[in-house]
Amino acid sequence: MAKKSVKSGKSKKFVYLFGGGKADGNESMKNLLGGKGANLAEMAKLGIPVPPGLTITTEMCTVYYKLNRKYPKELYTQVENGIKHTEKTMGMGFGDKNNPLLVSVRSGARISMPGMMDTVLNLGLNDQTVIGLAEQSKNERFAWDSYRRFVQMYGDVVLGLKPQTKTDIDPFEEIMDEVKEERGVKTDVELDVAALKELVKRFKKAIKDRKGFDFPEDPWKQLWGAIEAVFGSWMGDRAIKYRQINKVPHEWGTAVSVQAMVFGNMGDDSGTGVAFTRNPSTGERKFYGEYLINAQGEDVVAGIRTPQPLNHSTKSSADQKTLEEVMPTPYKTLEAIYKKLEKHYKDMQDIEFTIQKGKLWMLQTRNGKRTAAAALQIACDMVAEKMIDIPTALMRVAPEQIDQLLHPMFDPKAKKEVIAKGLPASPGAATGQAVFHADEAESWVKDGKKVILIRIETSPEDIGGMNVAEGILTARGGMTSHAAVVARGMGKCCVAGCGALNINYKEKQLEVGGTIIKEGDWVSLNGTSGEVMKGKVPTMMAQLSGNFGKLLAWADKYRRLDIRTNADTPNDAKVARDFGANGIGLCRTEHMFFEGDRIVAVREMILSDDVAGRKRALEKLLPMQKKDFLGIFEAMNGFPVTIRLLDPPLHEFVPHELPQQEAMAKDMGVSVEKIIQKIDSLHEFNPMLGHRGCRLGIIYPEITEMQATAIMEAACELKKKGIDVKPEIMVPLVGEVKELSNQVDIIRRVAQDTIKKYGVKVNYMVGTMIEIPRAAVMADKIAEVAEFFSCGTNDLTQMTMGLSRDDAGKFLPAYVEMGIYKNDPFQVLDEDGVGQLVRMAVEKGRKTKKDLKVGICGEHGGDPESIDFCHRAGLNYVSCSPYRVPIARLAAAQASIKEKRKISYSTK
Ligand code: PEP
Ligand code: MG
Repeated sequence: MAKKSVKSGKSKKFVYLFGGGKADGNESMKNLLGGKGANLAEMAKLGIPVPPGLTITTEMCTVYYKLNRKYPKELYTQVENGIKHTEKTMGMGFGDKNNPLLVSVRSGARISMPGMMDTVLNLGLNDQTVIGLAEQSKNERFAWDSYRRFVQMYGDVVLGLKPQTKTDIDPFEEIMDEVKEERGVKTDVELDVAALKELVKRFKKAIKDRKGFDFPEDPWKQLWGAIEAVFGSWMGDRAIKYRQINKVPHEWGTAVSVQAMVFGNMGDDSGTGVAFTRNPSTGERKFYGEYLINAQGEDVVAGIRTPQPLNHSTKSSADQKTLEEVMPTPYKTLEAIYKKLEKHYKDMQDIEFTIQKGKLWMLQTRNGKRTAAAALQIACDMVAEKMIDIPTALMRVAPEQIDQLLHPMFDPKAKKEVIAKGLPASPGAATGQAVFHADEAESWVKDGKKVILIRIETSPEDIGGMNVAEGILTARGGMTSHAAVVARGMGKCCVAGCGALNINYKEKQLEVGGTIIKEGDWVSLNGTSGEVMKGKVPTMMAQLSGNFGKLLAWADKYRRLDIRTNADTPNDAKVARDFGANGIGLCRTEHMFFEGDRIVAVREMILSDDVAGRKRALEKLLPMQKKDFLGIFEAMNGFPVTIRLLDPPLHEFVPHELPQQEAMAKDMGVSVEKIIQKIDSLHEFNPMLGHRGCRLGIIYPEITEMQATAIMEAACELKKKGIDVKPEIMVPLVGEVKELSNQVDIIRRVAQDTIKKYGVKVNYMVGTMIEIPRAAVMADKIAEVAEFFSCGTNDLTQMTMGLSRDDAGKFLPAYVEMGIYKNDPFQVLDEDGVGQLVRMAVEKGRKTKKDLKVGICGEHGGDPESIDFCHRAGLNYVSCSPYRVPIARLAAAQASIKEKRKISYSTK
């Protein structure tokens, strides 16, 4: 091994020791010692019995790669000292044939990377020490079983005999099968000492045959080989892929922990188990866990034997044998330790322990993963117990967990057959029969069926079908595609941009990877993971407890941002208010145009040849729009309501199929050819950059007039009735101040006339969206006319990054996977690019108007990371779909707390 050492100049500490009541490191050194190493050190310091050992730092991993897979010289001495310390603490000798110390060698990065890197157990065994182990444990079978496991593990992990592909054969498995067959036994436990000895012999031969050298008998050689394998696994394909997906930098490196082995399988006075200091699924304050007598950790995980409960209070049937009953002394020690750990870490702990011949050893502790309900319960309980303060409790619940509570989820025990994966566009779980057309969705639901609406992409025309469907699945479109935005608004499960689907509307079926789903077949969608499943998967609703309200009320005290909602109907507005929204940040008026038979009047307006025809149609629409606004204003009783004027390109409203075109022609008393001709004339190659937004109201001022009239009449009527109203009229897609002035002139004229007509005072504002990059750049000029800004970050992202909101789904997921983009920019605001424009709009806008109110109403308004940015950028509010309001309340509070504690988002 000496050939691998390199002189590195001054001596540096690469090895940290722990055990015997002391440690060089501590809990705060996760970056250097890895999560596992840091917690082992901390436990040792607390006087908790942990098997002693040493941790080689993550820094060493980086040095190792820098030196071209060599170690600096001092590492050898430091590791040797570490082993000496371990020997001394355990009273055993590494390689001592009478009293052999065995060690485990494990990886440990600063974050847990489950199953990604390698581990070697029972290291130090050879033909000599196995005899010592047998004598010492008075259990020959145990010693030889440990030895054969070690040779196998060492061969697989260190010497690289582990199968690399599905078709490769593991030589050790093959030998195991051979020996079992020869001995006429079925399971590993039936193998006797002679069989185990035979296995060791044949395993070693397999190593020699394949590698051309002998299995290393020298424990030191074994150790250095294992250390090298762990460092090597950091750059293994699995680990690299994991880091890419989870955005973990390669430079972090892994630590290596070498720790004395303790055995839970040394007889009936030994055992092993895992536990949580509180129930991880409900949060109940009960010590909760499982153990197995005479077993090793992997036996608990493998599920061959049924683990037993730890104590009386978690026992579910009389025949169970608890640790409390079977081994009362170690149980008492364990109880004292868990309490100490929880008190020390001030959080629920997930612990692993082993009892060797009646002595308890702690192998691991870490903050335990928990369900959303448990997270809430534990956070609230710990405040009541005065263990943590309110800001800490608020930081303990992830906003995404709040989301889980608001949507149905699949029964975790249910079987599922995943046939495809798309974008998790709107969370929740849905199961229903496949339908491929929106109108069919409506008629099926009328017949009492549950449906999943499957479309290549959705358009506003599909809104009725989307509304009744259990869930929506599309082949195209990204996180801000029509389907995604509308579904989130409805709180409905949606998987979007599932490119692998071949949807055939004519045949009413889809094909994916050879599976065919026909109309009427059952499908299930997981809007939280993006999974599409064949068949019916049972769903369940999480229960909202009092803790939910309690935590969010705390959040409201800490947040600086106001939380508004994007709501288009009185019902959405009410849901959002119940969830705690204090205003509407975006009411998209176009969705109102699809309700009932309004679409006929809308189409009439669009298809009219002249102003007079358009005005006639708009007169029909006016009372309907007014009714909507009355409902929304009333639902928001006194909170501000931002209403956006018509935005989408007009062709989205016209009928594209012949029967509807004929009906339209009849209604309007013109020929169907004329209708088709008009529809053709509305065609645009790039409608998102075409005749939409304020460009509609500029060319057809009568549309703006009608909408402004409807808004102001509704406001005046309510005001007369004594209901407080705060309308904020918003002009979309402005890039030039003159566009805004043009529309503001119309709106103010209409507003003044209406106010005069009703003889009441209504405080209204007129503002604009910042959604074209030029608007951000020109924000100082625009603020001369606008009374408020609302950042439309959907369009702003699209136009800044040159990404189509509707088509980017084809390549965006790959971009994210390849690390070209850190996130889908339609989901998490691109702070470096788009964020700069938002900041520019805020700064320039407020240079002109000091107190200019600036909000955000793009989909980012409901994303926790983007909300953190909005807080830092000094926005006044975020606006998001009703079901995201609770998430936003919590995320906004966390942003404030982080600012005070000076924590940046990425190190959360
Ligand atoms: C936006 O562009 O961010 C926005 C809110 O408007 P829409 O999504 O309706 O284009
Ligand atoms: Mg927009």
